[in-house]
Amino acid sequence: SERTLVLVKPDGVARALVGEVISRIERKGLTLAALELRTVSEETAKAHYAEHVERPFFPSLIEFITSGPVVAMVVEGERAIPAFRQLAGGTDPVEKATPGTIRGDFGLETQLNLVHGSDSPESAEREIGLWFPGL
Ligand code: ATP
Repeated sequence: SERTLVLVKPDGVARALVGEVISRIERKGLTLAALELRTVSEETAKAHYAEHVERPFFPSLIEFITSGPVVAMVVEGERAIPAFRQLAGGTDPVEKATPGTIRGDFGLETQLNLVHGSDSPESAEREIGLWFPGL
């Protein structure tokens, strides 16, 4: 089986969608290997989103992700990485995510898209090491 790093971003926590996200993960058949409510330091935020450092939206993304608590999880199961990305839906909640997905059902804006999920085995290992060192 496979592991992926999932975040309920500050907008998802503020809107009380943590239970909804966990419920969808569990109903899919995936399991929780770790879970914690965290306030993200600027250092962790910048390391997490290092690949986007040159993008125009980077400063605003760092401000957003450090603006309030997030729920960080390690989610495990068969094909957990693509399985969670399927549950999340596309990055833009209106143009890309379809109804039935987390972003498609609950999101309106690309930045405030509620959840993060690792996009490859390499990112998953890097992100799990960053958020849950030693796991
Ligand atoms: P994530 O990595 O959070 O799962 P993703 O892989 O769907 O999202 P990326 O392209 O890696 O999307 O972008 C990372 C995050 O940066 C997005 O989830 C979103 O919050 C934000 N973002 C991406 N594109 C934009 C944009 N054009 N404007 C504002 N914010 C953006």
